[in-house]
Amino acid sequence: MSLIVQKYGGTSVGSPERIQAVADKVIAFRKAGHDLVVVVSAMSGETNRLIALAKSIQTQPDARELDVLVSTGEQVTIALLCMALKERGQDARSYTGGQVKILTDDAFTKARIQDIDDKNIRADLALGRVVVVAGFQGVDEQGNITTLGRGGSDTTGVALAAALKADECQIYTDVDGVYTTDPRVVEKARRLDRITFEEMLEMASQGSKVLQIRSVEFAGKYQVPLRVLSSFQDGPGTLITIDEDLSSMEQPVVSGIAFNRDEAKLSIRGIPDVPGMASRVLAPIGEANIEVDVIVQNMAADNTNDITFTVHRNDMAKAKALLDGLATELGARQVVADDSVVKVSVVGVGMRSHAGVASTMFKALAKENINIQLITTSEIKISVVIEEKYLELAVRSLHTAFGLDAK
Ligand code: ADP
Ligand code: ASP
Ligand code: MG
Repeated sequence: MSLIVQKYGGTSVGSPERIQAVADKVIAFRKAGHDLVVVVSAMSGETNRLIALAKSIQTQPDARELDVLVSTGEQVTIALLCMALKERGQDARSYTGGQVKILTDDAFTKARIQDIDDKNIRADLALGRVVVVAGFQGVDEQGNITTLGRGGSDTTGVALAAALKADECQIYTDVDGVYTTDPRVVEKARRLDRITFEEMLEMASQGSKVLQIRSVEFAGKYQVPLRVLSSFQDGPGTLITIDEDLSSMEQPVVSGIAFNRDEAKLSIRGIPDVPGMASRVLAPIGEANIEVDVIVQNMAADNTNDITFTVHRNDMAKAKALLDGLATELGARQVVADDSVVKVSVVGVGMRSHAGVASTMFKALAKENINIQLITTSEIKISVVIEEKYLELAVRSLHTAFGLDAK
């Protein structure tokens, strides 16, 4: 008998029928003798609906109140799933994040889990109950409701699995595993049997929303055995593993392709080429809590510099206003903002031992006449910023160029 934490995403609990199907699945695991803690998301579309509702009342919704509002989505599904389980004769008990208590910091809308009290959960499991926990939410030291950022139910699942030292954390979603790239964009994407934590973390950081970044960080840090599976069909899914040696399988150079549509690009042009300029440009952006992604500086013939960087599209207007404010002070020639860019990244631990990945990537893009605007690399990834309209074409051609297409 083992302890399994299962997390079901929005589509998996998107209707009463789907919730019934989840209850059947949970019961099958119970019948096989396992203890189960089940984390659920809100019904699909619900979190978006609540955010839109908030925005219809307050343009920039108050963060504390927004968390009070959006956390209700998960409160609905925990209750419904428990009802479905009880209807089938299985004792079950629902918990909101605060009831568990999943203690977080007080960073509303992007809180981090600090501690989990497992007392009630363990007591319920000992009584043979299935414990159903609301994903995406916690409570701070003052008792305020907090949420963990979009996709945060994955993190609830993994954090509970770590706290309970579960034998496995299973993330059930609407695809049957982690693919070489988003299967909704590339038809020839292939399901991976395994992927390393390091690669999964890089894929998630570069925009693959199949797992929230923090859930992968957590799983790596606490060595939680993590698997991504479909709630709609049976199958082995994808195991996220520490092991880099994929044994019998030849290690591919590139394991996957990730992309991020949320990017916007800003440039401040013609600033003096003197020490301290990059800091003067980027410090106010950081102080405004705007996360900067790719940064590139290039020098013009007249000894001035251009600094270009990308931010989340939601932050573009704010960042542009800050740069406009700096432009006169720094004697800049021009400030430009562009929200029609995307970032495409190739990821793979195999890159460490292989040269020529960049040239293969750039050649494939050149063949399609796709202009590269910015380039950034790390040990196991290469990212390019390109025009948004080329996204699908770029991902598809890179998928083929790196030999990832399904046969
Ligand atoms: P859930 O509601 O279950 O949390 P998400 O929508 O958050 O589901 O994540 C699943 C989606 O992630 C898939 O439907 C798929 O479109 C997308 N996705 C993006 N990149 C990948 C990838 N590399 N492998 C699998 N799915 C991916
Ligand atoms: N319901 C939340 C969201 O839509 C959390 C989650 O589904 O993981 O972001
Ligand atoms: Mg998700």
